[in-house]
Parts: sequence; C-alpha cells; structure tokens
Amino acid sequence: MKVSNETIQHALDLCSQYSDEEVIEKLGVRHDTLRRYKAVAKDRGMSSIPHVKLPKIFIMDIENSPTMAAVWGMWKQNINLAAITEEWYLLSWSGKYLFDTEMYSDVLTPEEAVNGDDKRVMQSLWQHLDNCDILVGHNMNQFDMLKANTRFVINGINPPTPYQTIDTLLAARKNFAFTSNKLDYLCKQFGVEGKADNGGMERWMKCMRGDAEALLEMEKYNRQDIVATEELYMAMRPYIKSHPNLALYMDNKSDACYKCGSPNITWLKDKFYYTTVNKFSVYECNECHSHGRSRKTAIDPEESKHITSPIAR
Ligand SMILES: [Zn+2]
Repeated sequence: MKVSNETIQHALDLCSQYSDEEVIEKLGVRHDTLRRYKAVAKDRGMSSIPHVKLPKIFIMDIENSPTMAAVWGMWKQNINLAAITEEWYLLSWSGKYLFDTEMYSDVLTPEEAVNGDDKRVMQSLWQHLDNCDILVGHNMNQFDMLKANTRFVINGINPPTPYQTIDTLLAARKNFAFTSNKLDYLCKQFGVEGKADNGGMERWMKCMRGDAEALLEMEKYNRQDIVATEELYMAMRPYIKSHPNLALYMDNKSDACYKCGSPNITWLKDKFYYTTVNKFSVYECNECHSHGRSRKTAIDPEESKHITSPIAR
C-alpha cells in the first residue's frame, strides 16, 4: 500500500520531538511500520533522520539459463558430459533490502545473453552480497548462493565478505508441514500475491537467443519473486527457530528482540526455557511475536548448587 507524504511527514515531525517508542505509541503503529516510513522518507528525499541501525538484510533471487545438451531422444535420457553443448549462466538477478521500497535488479543485454557472458551482472549482484549482513531467499542455501558462487569463481570474482543466510525453503521444511514448500504454493497459503507466470521454457530459450523483450520479462518475473519472498519471510519469521541474532548487529543499550531488533519485548513471569541443566527467562516480542530467551541463567546461585544433572554416557 502506498503511504501518503502527509502520513510520512507527520511521523517524521513526531520523530524530531519524541523517541521512536513514543512515536509508535502515538501513531498506534508497529516498529516495523515506523522503519518503513523512515525508509520511504529517505527514498522520497523527505528526511535526514537516520534509520534504526538494523543489519542489512537483502532478499535475493536469481534466474539462470538451462544447461544445453545434445540428446538422442526425449525419454529416460542419461546425458553424457560430452553431450553438453553449453554451460548454464546467470540471466538475471533481483533483490531488495528488508522494508525498503527500492528494488534492485539486473539482466543480461541481448549481446551478453547470446555470448553467455554474465560477468557484468555477477559484478552488480556481488555489490549487494558484499554489502549485506544477512541474505534471504527461497532455496538460498542449496541453490541461489551456490549458483552465484559458481559464476563468481568462473568470472574470476573474489568472494564477497561473509554474510549469514535465511533460507525460507529450509525454514518451511523445518518448522511446518505444508503440502508443498514451493514458493508459489506457500504464498497462496499465506494469501500473499505469488509468483507471476514465468513464461515456461519458451521464454528461457528466447532469452538465450538474445530476445530483448524476453530478457526484460525475465527481469520483471524475477522482481515479483522478491516481493513474494519478503512477505513469506515476514509471515514465517515468528516460527523460524534458527534465525540470525539481529541484536548482535545493533548498538543495544537495552534488551532487544533477536529476530526483529525491536526493544518492545515483554519478559514473561511464569514461563522459562529449560536446557538439561539450566533455566532461562523467556520474552515475547510485541512486534514480531517471536519468543527468545535471556543469555543469563534464571537460577539463583544458591539454588544452582543443588541442581543435579544427567549422565551423558
Ligand atoms: Zn521481534
């Protein structure tokens, strides 16, 4: 939904007088929403108010060409390596930073597509991978990241600086039991506007032949996946158990949620997280509705002397 300049300006005016917490309360919005307002303000050149220092979370998706091979038939083919006529390469990539409105993408020119030359688009993708702290994508760990690395190394590009990953496909598999974990299917389950029509193999073949229109369509299709992935990530986030700790990236003077970075958390009085030998306080985040725990024990030092523990073997 497009936010009006008036709404943004009103939020900015409040931000110049009050703390973020007070502004959120006055506006009756969430931390995420205020961050989005600030991002939109920056995009529209309306503000010099700095963002809350969150890690740079980049949502990414790539499209690559198929590997081409000479085949003897259509069914049950075992493709010999000698039959490969052309290796796959990257056609396009797209991405955006979490909550930002700006979308980034790149696609091969018709000439680059014909030559299978993806060095330029790999370099533009590399800038974001090098810049981000956390990379989000559907099948990121087993597909996008490995494909990107393959084309980086082939093009003689050095590795980007380290980043952590959030793979929404792995998250779906680990934490839920959906009938299918495909992006399109999951989006439908969450009522998120899903993938656009990818145009089938015909579009990929056209791209490889350097069809300018097909390449632009590919980029457009690629960009739509990013919006869907961001929504899916947000919907699943409270349930994702192995999530990078955002609090580590922030300048924390007070307690903050490890998943969304919000200081708006409530420590629960009667609920604890237990390991085999320890007990920790648990919080509920009022922004992203995740739960996390304290790193300090909730056991009194005197009491802890009397705690027995299991025998490992
Ligand atoms: Zn949170």
